[in-house]
Amino acid sequence: MRTEVEQTFGALSKIVGNTPLLGIHFEYRGQQHVIYAKSEQVNMTGSIKDRMALYIMKTAYAEGRIRPGDTIAEATSGNTGISFAAIGRALGHPVKIFMPSWMSHERQDLIRCYGAEIVLVSAEQGGFLGSIRMAEEFAASRSDVFLPRQFSNLGNTEAHETTTGPEIWAQLESAGLCPDAFVAGVGTGGTVMGVGRCLRGRNPYVKLHPVEPAESPTISTGYKVGKHRIQGISDEFIPTLVDLTVLDSIVAVSDGDSILMAQKLASSLGLAVGISSGCNFLAALKVQEELGPDAVVATVFADDNKKYLSTDLTRVEPVRPDYLAPEVALTGISALQRICSCCERGQEVR
Ligand code: PMP
Repeated sequence: MRTEVEQTFGALSKIVGNTPLLGIHFEYRGQQHVIYAKSEQVNMTGSIKDRMALYIMKTAYAEGRIRPGDTIAEATSGNTGISFAAIGRALGHPVKIFMPSWMSHERQDLIRCYGAEIVLVSAEQGGFLGSIRMAEEFAASRSDVFLPRQFSNLGNTEAHETTTGPEIWAQLESAGLCPDAFVAGVGTGGTVMGVGRCLRGRNPYVKLHPVEPAESPTISTGYKVGKHRIQGISDEFIPTLVDLTVLDSIVAVSDGDSILMAQKLASSLGLAVGISSGCNFLAALKVQEELGPDAVVATVFADDNKKYLSTDLTRVEPVRPDYLAPEVALTGISALQRICSCCERGQEVR
């Protein structure tokens, strides 16, 4: 007999991960290109962070590090809070989220809709680092708190090493392709490090590029400089999960260019993705420009646009001469289907 918790995990596993891999076809400076992007907006709560939250919760249960009724407390810029709120509530846990106060209203409302409590942390209270400190202090003050600690929990990287990475490999393989490079914007770094470890294990020559906003670097400087509008990446420090020594060069993309690209993906192809997806696409294009137009470059569309309806994503964004998005003419999509559960192979659908 399966317990109720096992049954819930079984159901959640059906709606988290195993996403389609999209081929985005486009013309750029007179040449035809394809970039491959995992369609992570189809996850349970609409973002890639569901993978990490589900994996960390499964591991915590398996290792007896969480008890029924324990409160889950996490510091997050949004998507992680939404994922832990949904998955935590599905498992019957109270959830408390510490979040910088300037994150989009949609994020705050969604977390509340999932039945979690939010503590908003202002810039004066320490912003992102203040959120982490306050979550730790809350846990230290009680004996019934589970802290996922997404920035340092190895389960975050393992989630991508054991799910996102193998999916990308199998889906590309189903089309006779092998990845030359993987790029991803760095929030916790779980995506780029975990997918990277999987792909490098199968092709030691694959390039792995972390991505950050051009106007507000963090990983190339070690601390946060300036401000940017790509919510979900480049927080205020280099997360402990990130090991720059195993990664290739850092790719910088402007937030305005990312907004224009995300807008174009929605208006030309019907792919209503968030700002970091526009950023990842342009970073993938920059890497492809270095490797050659036939290079197989993969990335992720981390979430959809619904959390950004009150942001500059829905406004007219001024074009600057150095932007790439205006030169990208999107021509179509193909989909490398989800992994087949019986043979674990990707199936191409055109
Ligand atoms: N894009 C968005 C929209 C995100 O919410 C996140 C997670 N913070 C990322 C990208 C970066 O993913 P990771 O934390 O795995 O580096």
